[in-house]
Amino acid sequence: MTVGLILVSHSADLARGSAELARQMAPSVIIAPAGGSDDGGLGTSFDAITQAIGQADTGSGAVLLYDLGSALLTAETALEFLGPELAGRIRIVDAPLVEGAVAAAVTAQGGADLDGVAASAADAGASRTDHGAAAVAPSRDRRWSDRPAQSVTATVSVVNPLGLHARPVATLIRSLLSLSVEVTLGRPGGQTVDLRSVLRVVALALRGGEQVEVVATGPDAVTAEATITALISGGFGETGDLPKRIPPARMGAAPARMGNAPAGMSSVGGPTIIDGVLTAQPGAPGLAIGPLVRLDRAPVQLGDAAPAAGNRFDAGQQGELLDAAIAAAGQKLSTGNQFEVAHAVLLADPEMRAAARLALADGSAGAAAAWWGAVGRTADRLADDPDELVAARAVDVREAGAAVLTELGVVVDRIPAGLTGAVVFADDLGPGEVPVLLEMGVAGVVLSRSSATAHAVIVARGLGLPMILRAGDEIGKLPTGSELVLDGEAGTVTVAPSPQEGNRIRQRIQEMAQESRTLTEAAKGPVYGPDGRRIMVVANIGSLADAKAAVESGADGVGLLRTELLILDRETYPDEDTQTADLTAIFEVLGDRPVVVRVLDAGGDKPVTALDLDPVHNGFLGIRGLRYLLAHPDVLQVQLRAIFRAAVGHRVSVMAPMVSIAAEAVAFRKAVDEAVASLVEQGLAHQAPEQIGVMIEVPAAALAADEICAVSDFVSIGSNDLTSYTMAADRTEIGVADLIDPASTAVQRLLDQLCAFAVASGTPVAVCGEIAGMPEQVMGLLARGVHELSVAPARIPAIKGLLRSRR
Ligand code: PEP
Ligand code: MG
Repeated sequence: MTVGLILVSHSADLARGSAELARQMAPSVIIAPAGGSDDGGLGTSFDAITQAIGQADTGSGAVLLYDLGSALLTAETALEFLGPELAGRIRIVDAPLVEGAVAAAVTAQGGADLDGVAASAADAGASRTDHGAAAVAPSRDRRWSDRPAQSVTATVSVVNPLGLHARPVATLIRSLLSLSVEVTLGRPGGQTVDLRSVLRVVALALRGGEQVEVVATGPDAVTAEATITALISGGFGETGDLPKRIPPARMGAAPARMGNAPAGMSSVGGPTIIDGVLTAQPGAPGLAIGPLVRLDRAPVQLGDAAPAAGNRFDAGQQGELLDAAIAAAGQKLSTGNQFEVAHAVLLADPEMRAAARLALADGSAGAAAAWWGAVGRTADRLADDPDELVAARAVDVREAGAAVLTELGVVVDRIPAGLTGAVVFADDLGPGEVPVLLEMGVAGVVLSRSSATAHAVIVARGLGLPMILRAGDEIGKLPTGSELVLDGEAGTVTVAPSPQEGNRIRQRIQEMAQESRTLTEAAKGPVYGPDGRRIMVVANIGSLADAKAAVESGADGVGLLRTELLILDRETYPDEDTQTADLTAIFEVLGDRPVVVRVLDAGGDKPVTALDLDPVHNGFLGIRGLRYLLAHPDVLQVQLRAIFRAAVGHRVSVMAPMVSIAAEAVAFRKAVDEAVASLVEQGLAHQAPEQIGVMIEVPAAALAADEICAVSDFVSIGSNDLTSYTMAADRTEIGVADLIDPASTAVQRLLDQLCAFAVASGTPVAVCGEIAGMPEQVMGLLARGVHELSVAPARIPAIKGLLRSRR
């Protein structure tokens, strides 16, 4: 096997061109170009270099040549994370790229060994600068090219409340990409970590109000230090009050009768079971009793194709598979919603990749197993952190890690059947799993990790699924089927209660259910505005579980079914039959309550993988909502036909999102007519919509609401987008969150005007944005003539109670 060559350049063209030239002289040498940044621009790419190393080294090693100093940095980083064995077979040579490549290729073609090829590349550099200049030694020690390295230290205050979490760290890393420098961060006098390791920096839990010491080393140290300190003291565009230091979770805080906290701690820091009771942290209130079922989030089978009997995995090949999967997952996540983008940032962390590479090195593990092991160890380390915000990142690491497994063809996060009445124990959950568990009849959830601010926990609270957090590992070690009592309010789990205690708990659960029914009962039935008009208090839903919650909360119907949420995670756009079945299930739960189905609002912060949207064209101001559907009539027709087929026997209306002008409302109406006509023609059972409406969520639509009302059966105010677009403030950008205020003068004036237009034209006007659930806004909306308030299911009893109290 010949020695290979890796050509690292800031320009993809230069790297490719040099490789081509060298190949002319040495056709049997593997020459792998690694040029350009990940986004195809000028720069260098960790991923590209790692891949190129994998290609060029076939066991005999490879020589790596580079063009500029920062390319060296990226190359060295890649080598560090590929592990010592592989790194030992790569020689970085400081020589002119083209001459070095040609000389090295020719020497390699002649069968020279690694040192011989490296020396000839270095000699090429010497011969070019011949006139007395010393030959440039093939060495990894000449780190900073010819410029002197220096070290600069500065201390700066963190001003953004959440401090150096994943997004700011990613910003800092990006700001240094073109500089030759290494930067470490830490509390003054405390532990320091390499800035490139996102997760290490996040784990420092540097929050607003704290001091951070920045040490920059290298030729560009001065520039780097100035850049970093400016970014940190600028607050990354985030605003808000500085938080008090977030206290560690109440893990292991024993109940009064049990004595103090240390007695409840296990040797690994989680709470222990004392006298049959484990005390952890409350997550979502409620009482549950049932058999323990462990929810194993690890993939059932890691899916690495086994090596031939007796053989080991090919480390290089598995590494390539893993790199490709990480790159593909990162690429997909980086165009997703804000959570997914944050996951993409975590995937860029070099440590997990390095750990996985190490695990691959001896050939005993395949790509999936090596990766999942590295993910697990990283997540565990974070989850054990006493800082809640750091611990909460563990689930993100697993989610991001799972995305890579998916790219490797592995099925993850399978939830077993037979969970009815069970108390589920899991390491952690993703937000999408909570409604699934609820639908399956799970009675309660014990999480060994997580935090009160995690999204899944917020969802559980919203849906009323009892949950406790940070319970450690002890419950998970009990035999499956052990009876558990979970108190989500107190944060306790009682193991194997006595029969009397079990009966008492069951009775209490029944009493609580009765109390809740009474409360909900009070919410059922009609409510009226101060002027005696019937006000419909209806629900915003996005799943079957939401539909059930809406009915249970006493909703008069559904004012907004966000259909994009039904397909957000699907790989392909569901066909008409599948959509019909999904909608039928929801309509059946709602019975004869009226339901407004909003056609797909794809785009903006709702990427809808199945539709292959791109974040630029389909962003907030781009081809979003109805704009997309009018440009893709097939997608709209499939959805409309499914809605009307499922609507048989129900009271279904349809509504279009993101309408700006009356002509779009007319086009939507035409599309509805077309879908109905096609169903009639084919003789398929269906029901035409009761009403055809549009959302008013764009300032243009609010200002021209008279024209839009003239062609619509009803309008529904989407105050979320209306506020965002009016204030020119992105809904997902935390830095402008203060501007997203529907009480602002501008939004209130728009509401005045658009409601006046609607009332004057006799067009019913509903509100389905968050403003409809804000008690301080509700009476003002009714005074403007709004007849329907559409809110989250959990808000329905409160809003109905409010209206009753105001009569
Ligand atoms: C809105 O914009 O207020 C609205 C209800 O739609 P969504 O939140 O789904 O964009
Ligand atoms: Mg909207």
